[in-house]
Amino acid sequence: MSRRLFGFSRQLLARALRLRCPRCGEGKIFRRVLTYSEHTHCPRCGLRYDPHGESLAFMYVSTAFLTGVMVIVMLFMHPESIASGRMVVIPIALALYVSTLPVRKALAIALNYLNHPLP
Ligand SMILES: [Zn+2]
Repeated sequence: MSRRLFGFSRQLLARALRLRCPRCGEGKIFRRVLTYSEHTHCPRCGLRYDPHGESLAFMYVSTAFLTGVMVIVMLFMHPESIASGRMVVIPIALALYVSTLPVRKALAIALNYLNHPLP
């Protein structure tokens, strides 16, 4: 049973990384990734992606996790001044937050689907 769940989880992870529907693996989650405009339902199978708005919590947690990663990076940096350290860390952090946003949203939808697989 756990082996089956592991395989199912791997499949959902692969679909999330491709920004595809967790149920059918074909429908796109986003209309346009760069503008972050997303579909409410899968265009292929009709799965409602975020029926209760639960993915927002995952977005907060993953943003907090990335912030923690950036704090750890800052602890290992030894810039000449705090200002120069900020000039490096802040753009990297913002780029990291923005560039991972679609994948984090897709992971949230996949985790939601894993917890509540609808027929
Ligand atoms: Zn679908």
